Amino acid sequence: MLKPVHRVVCSPALAACQQMMQRFALWLCQPATAPAHVSQQGLQPPVLLTAIEADWLWGLLQRIESGQTLLSRAQTIAALPAAQKTALATWVQTISALPAQFQPGAAVWPVTRPLASKQDWNTFKALMESVYEKGFVDGLPYQGDGTPTAAGGVTYAEYVRAFRGAHRLNPNPHAREVCVLCGGPLGDTPHVDHWVTKGAFPLLSVCADNLQLICSTCNEAPNKGQKPVHSAGSFADWFHPYLRPGNGCVQLDYVPPAFAVRCAAAPADQPKATNLDGMLNLSSRWTREFKAEYAKHQDLLHRRERRRIALGQARHSLAEIQQHVQQWTATLSPSEPHHAVHSVLSHALMQPARTRAWLAELALVI
Ligand SMILES: [Zn+2]
Repeated sequence: MLKPVHRVVCSPALAACQQMMQRFALWLCQPATAPAHVSQQGLQPPVLLTAIEADWLWGLLQRIESGQTLLSRAQTIAALPAAQKTALATWVQTISALPAQFQPGAAVWPVTRPLASKQDWNTFKALMESVYEKGFVDGLPYQGDGTPTAAGGVTYAEYVRAFRGAHRLNPNPHAREVCVLCGGPLGDTPHVDHWVTKGAFPLLSVCADNLQLICSTCNEAPNKGQKPVHSAGSFADWFHPYLRPGNGCVQLDYVPPAFAVRCAAAPADQPKATNLDGMLNLSSRWTREFKAEYAKHQDLLHRRERRRIALGQARHSLAEIQQHVQQWTATLSPSEPHHAVHSVLSHALMQPARTRAWLAELALVI
């Protein structure tokens, strides 16, 4: 959220897939759809938009998950009582209209599962999540631009590659990559994050507006984990990577007494920054990096001071400490991880009181 999040070149394929999932789910919920209708023939247009999508979905339904075909799960949904089907269809329509949640006066997002039986809900969930877990891994029935294709469709690996390419701040392939949420290193094992968790909202398991690539630290507990990105169904006080971006709003404030960094924003956006901070623990993670970088410079100057003492040279002066900070500041690059934290540190170290304190500390080195 510290960096802009862009839709990538194959995002239209993900959007087309989400449309297909919505269409399939709503068709299963129609009162006239019976288990026997879930067949290769039954999925053909106009149920799904094209024969390519129908054939692809039929292929997916043949897959076995936990000893049961996905087809039998689809048939279970088609066999639900009419009232359950109506409840599920209403839920599907609301969840599919995710962007509406970021318009003024949006109705509250449903936070409880739409099916009374946990077993039925898990059946629906497994069906929807299989599109991500299995279908996306092997390849969706779409080209990058969303055109249906029977072969060579967009894969999970391709999406990850496209996202990395679009968010690379330094074009050199050997350069470090930066996490869009925290501004730290993207690392060797970045995660595809479902902003709205797919466990609770499986319909969004393949959705261009719901996926992004972030560092494993951001994605795992005790940070994002399975936490909700809304407050009891209201998105009003929340940023969203694509629909209400936080970059440009989120700022890092230096808190001098604590020698710490705080995740902040202008007053109108402060509740959103607070929620983001609560979810990702940004203030404490940024402060840790702030103090670690300070410790690095402290160690460097201490070692230099000891060398000077050993060589019988003059001790550091105030001007030399200031010069050290200025030279380091000049090397800071916006394309490197933690640039924002390091910039706050450089400003903090430029403050005369801090430089004087540093000089006094160095004078104690023997
Ligand atoms: Zn991160």
